[in-house]
Amino acid sequence: MTSSGASTANAVSPDSGEHWSAEGAWQVADGIHRIPLPLPLDGLKAVNVYVLETDDGLVLIDGGWAIEAARSVLERSLRQIGAGFADIRRFLVTHVHRDHYTMAAVIGGDHGAPVSLGADEKPALDLLLGPEGAAQEAILRGLVTAGAGSLVEGWRRAPGDAPDPAMWRYPDTWLDGDHSIAVGARTLDAVHTPGHTPGHFVFADTSEQVLFAGDHVLPTITPSIGFTAPAPIDPLGDFMASLTKVRTLPDLRLLPAHGPVAPSSHARVDELLAHHEHRLTLSLAALAHGPATGFDVAHELGWTRHERSFGELDLFNQGLAAQETKAHLELLVARGLATREDTPVGVVFAPVP
Ligand SMILES: [Zn+2]
Repeated sequence: MTSSGASTANAVSPDSGEHWSAEGAWQVADGIHRIPLPLPLDGLKAVNVYVLETDDGLVLIDGGWAIEAARSVLERSLRQIGAGFADIRRFLVTHVHRDHYTMAAVIGGDHGAPVSLGADEKPALDLLLGPEGAAQEAILRGLVTAGAGSLVEGWRRAPGDAPDPAMWRYPDTWLDGDHSIAVGARTLDAVHTPGHTPGHFVFADTSEQVLFAGDHVLPTITPSIGFTAPAPIDPLGDFMASLTKVRTLPDLRLLPAHGPVAPSSHARVDELLAHHEHRLTLSLAALAHGPATGFDVAHELGWTRHERSFGELDLFNQGLAAQETKAHLELLVARGLATREDTPVGVVFAPVP
């Protein structure tokens, strides 16, 4: 899940010469291909799965959303490089969100290819695999703590948001802490990058000079922050610390999960850090008008790159915006610039006098 407005700017990917979501196996580097898979929701258009060839078969980074249309596109695209599902030896999944994880879980299970996922995604899977409705209730609680209790009934009624138990299972192995992973002759640095989700990982191939960035660093949009169940305390602080960590890697070609290939991980990390610093400044300024929830402050900010007003957003994005604003306010608390108080209508923030 991502927010802040998909853009058509720079959407032509240098590897394909076409819109980045165009079907195919697009060669990014020798033995590395980008395969965009369709998503059922409009906003993001597609998710990129990356295929790494080895002498022994294929390793896939992310799997896509387990829908029939995406499974067919993946099958056709693999055929372009002379391969099929039976050639997949392993899935490395950047994070637990369904557009990345669920098809890896399904195809990996069908074909005996182990699936690896960040260990800190386990609480989210515990909820998804727990009692019916537990995951949705946790998500709705997140809305309430952000002061967006008025959106709860609309979210509850939204179609298609109940998790489909058939596409969820635990991974075969957990990725825990920063470590390296041999993929054929390559070595990937698996780097834990909490923020968008607590167990997010990126994978760097520094000899090939590419970064498989998942949703941590996206070229034209910013990943949603604060839309996680169970909710971490300071997801934006986590995210910005993870951006700073990725900034200490060499400057790499950015291979994102959504959007075209981009030339510089450093350049995009710098833009994302500046974007959130700016939002932190605006959020602190908004608190000067009086104690407020994330929902309240979100009304005073512009949304998407078109600076839309909160009221112009749809119900779903209003909820994301309230929670992302709460994440900014929580980081202001962590920085000693604001105070927080839990109340029945959500966490209320105030500036430090
Ligand atoms: Zn995603």
